[in-house]
Amino acid sequence: MKMLNVNQISPIKGYTLFLNKTEEWVTTVLQNVLPFKKFDLESIQGKMNFLRTNLNIDIDAKISFVHYPCCARCGKEIETHENINFTAHLAPLHEDERSKKHHKEDELELTRDDLDFCFYENDSIDLESLLNDEIALELKYNYYCQDSEKCQLIQTNNPHITLNDTVDPRWAPLKKLKMN
Ligand SMILES: [Zn+2]
Repeated sequence: MKMLNVNQISPIKGYTLFLNKTEEWVTTVLQNVLPFKKFDLESIQGKMNFLRTNLNIDIDAKISFVHYPCCARCGKEIETHENINFTAHLAPLHEDERSKKHHKEDELELTRDDLDFCFYENDSIDLESLLNDEIALELKYNYYCQDSEKCQLIQTNNPHITLNDTVDPRWAPLKKLKMN
């Protein structure tokens, strides 16, 4: 878990964190968030700028990387360049404030403008989960080949892949177990 103590952020100069392959937590995030977990380590580039106004933190960040999701139609790997920009606004959450908010739930109602607003606790920002959430929001649900001519459906002669079949051969061993 990568935490940033807010006291590291200068109220005058702010703080900049560069994102690249040397930041192990960034590669951990990519491994967790990318559906096919395959990415180019060397391609990771980005930075997070932090500004502090009293205890409120503004984050302006960008990250780019190359990953290789599989086409949802034919299963071929597609080299995909992602360029993700995001901003976040954080305020401290204190123990007493949390219980107060719990009792006055109507005060917690968030509007659309508040969607990039969140809290941090114990003077530390959890950068790992922040980056994880921001990347997850930007990724596509499915990836498809750009060139539809080259996008061929998977051959059906593979015994482990069934199309329009009511019985999946992979379940056969399980079925046997059940009968014994
Ligand atoms: Zn395809």
